[in-house]
Amino acid sequence: MVMPKRRRKTAQDRADERRRMRDLKRIERAIADRLSLALKDKIRRIEAISDATWNAAVDGEPPEELKETDIAERREWPPLVEQLSNVGRLVHLAARMDPIDEEQIRTELLRARRDAYESELEIQAGRVGCPGQRARLTSGPSLTTLNDMSQRDAVSIVNTYNYDLAVRIAAIQQEVPTANRHVYAYRLRSWFGERNKQKKPAIAMYTANTARTLAQQDFYQFNRALMGTAHLEPLDAVCPVCIGWVKRGEVPMQVALNNASPFHNLCPHLWVTNPVRVPKDQCPNLWMGG
Ligand SMILES: [Zn+2]
Repeated sequence: MVMPKRRRKTAQDRADERRRMRDLKRIERAIADRLSLALKDKIRRIEAISDATWNAAVDGEPPEELKETDIAERREWPPLVEQLSNVGRLVHLAARMDPIDEEQIRTELLRARRDAYESELEIQAGRVGCPGQRARLTSGPSLTTLNDMSQRDAVSIVNTYNYDLAVRIAAIQQEVPTANRHVYAYRLRSWFGERNKQKKPAIAMYTANTARTLAQQDFYQFNRALMGTAHLEPLDAVCPVCIGWVKRGEVPMQVALNNASPFHNLCPHLWVTNPVRVPKDQCPNLWMGG
């Protein structure tokens, strides 16, 4: 494969990368904290199921295996929960995420996106020759867009969790047919931990990059005269779209902005801009958020 000549990274490029990485770690931590708080609460709720309620739910029949076939494609959890035994449904009711969780996750994702958006505006300011300019996103259509993205993601996170939870509960029933609530609580706690660890890097990356991409689009839309070129990084790519852009190397910035990453699931790619630089005395006139 012919790769474009690697452009030598400038001190600025490396500083920007470090800043994005620091932001990403902070976002990862915030998301992981939010999720583990929610899940601790679910474990407490399982433990708090009374003996009377539990015993009433214990049904003599051995649980059957879940039929996921056509449901799996749509990832709808209610039909899956229908198939659980009484005990399984009881545990799912205690441990599922609800609209309150969804709202808290949305809030956290929006906070993270706003952070990443403002950080990216400041990075772009540095790249046009105005380091130290502060960005603020307080209103306007982009805040609405970031909120809509966060709402959609929160719905999807809750939905996927509730679906996976039903599958996990069914599996515990298979493994330990006589499992009591402590067994469920114990096994689900370790499942949560593992799942969280797996999910948080992807969620954090997607959250940050969608916001950064929007920040780049806004920055150059409002600072139009500064558009130069851009290339996609990192240079390692697996999906055909990213490989294609990496191969093209420097493209006109408008082309880059019209083709915003992420391009696929777990896409780490972002456009690295090479804008027009402005004279220092013009820096106060930069658009730095609305
Ligand atoms: Zn990619």
